[in-house]
Amino acid sequence: MSDLSLTINGIEVAAREGMTILEAAQSSGIYVPTLCHCPGLTPEGACRICLVKIEKKKKLHPACRTPVEAGMVVITDDAEIEQVRRVTLELILSDHDFNCLLCRKSGTCRLQDLVNRIGFDEHRLDRLDRVAKDLPVDTSNPFFDFNPNKCVQCGICIRTCREIVGVDAIDMAYRGYEIKVSTFGDKPFKESVCVSCGECVERCPVAALIPKKIEYPTREVKTICAYCGVGCGLRLGVRGNTIIGARGDRDNPVNKGELCVRGRFGYKFIHSPDRLTSPIVRAYDPLERQAHGIDETGESSKPVTSPLVKQEGDFVEVTWEQAIKYVASSLDHFKGDQFAAMSSAKCTNEENYLFQKFVRTVMGTNNIDHCARL
Ligand code: SF4
Ligand code: SF4
Ligand code: SF4
Repeated sequence: MSDLSLTINGIEVAAREGMTILEAAQSSGIYVPTLCHCPGLTPEGACRICLVKIEKKKKLHPACRTPVEAGMVVITDDAEIEQVRRVTLELILSDHDFNCLLCRKSGTCRLQDLVNRIGFDEHRLDRLDRVAKDLPVDTSNPFFDFNPNKCVQCGICIRTCREIVGVDAIDMAYRGYEIKVSTFGDKPFKESVCVSCGECVERCPVAALIPKKIEYPTREVKTICAYCGVGCGLRLGVRGNTIIGARGDRDNPVNKGELCVRGRFGYKFIHSPDRLTSPIVRAYDPLERQAHGIDETGESSKPVTSPLVKQEGDFVEVTWEQAIKYVASSLDHFKGDQFAAMSSAKCTNEENYLFQKFVRTVMGTNNIDHCARL
């Protein structure tokens, strides 16, 4: 429902009260360049790239922070605005480790996109260029790196950690030319309160916060994260038959694209050579096996009633039929409160429902719990 209208670049645009000029322009398909804007976060107006003209107002105004007004007349694109944007971009680039050819973000970088769209004056940039800071890259986090030399101080990571994640692990530290994103006490990420969710990495517009490894998938598969009971929507990046990445599904109402460390970075178990792909039982030496009633097929007629230690041998693969028979014959010796069960968050809701039904009706006890009882 639109409740006011304004004019942007001579086009009448419908908008709602409380919208910013940037939101009104974007909702009408009008491009306004930005660097520090990120939907869902409080606008900061830090980069000054989205400056626009408003009729009867003297200064240029940041479109991301200026609310729309009925009858407003806005210009987002003319020679003067372009010139101001170009100089602003040159100032950002003058303090940036600008080496797209060797950069992992190249192709998906918003600063690179702005350079392509707005352009810069090489001679002026040469004069503005600062001595490279050459600050150390923080590689302490197991999932991502932080390279302050690539940071454009947009503040998106800080706002993300504060407003979306609620951890507040990072902020701007120092002043002037020395300003940089920092953890409390300027410690490495690994020693900070950061929970490695990667939300800031996902939103960083440049290569400052970047995953350890970037691979581009050939297709994406929509699915639900299997780690816990929240059920976040995932988009798994696939190449051939291998999962090479994961990102949150923005269309999913449960997580709206957000993920925790397990959903975002914990997908490698899927192709792990250590992963169990068939049931196994412990292989004891023949006497131990006989004592515990496990025959060569893995079937058991006797429950384990005292603590056991693994002796010789290793796990032996058995068929599902053998494994189920073995478990069933062991369970046969317990009833009621002799028995307790713990269910898994990796099961679906339906599987967990069936399991509690089994425990209550077959085993005759309410001793059932779940590791993700959220
Ligand atoms: S962060 Fe972006 S602009 Fe900077 S070097 Fe990398 S690709 Fe180029
Ligand atoms: S990874 Fe998550 S917790 Fe850590 S700084 Fe980024 S947003 Fe904050
Ligand atoms: S690390 Fe990335 S998101 Fe954070 S301020 Fe720097 S450029 Fe922006």
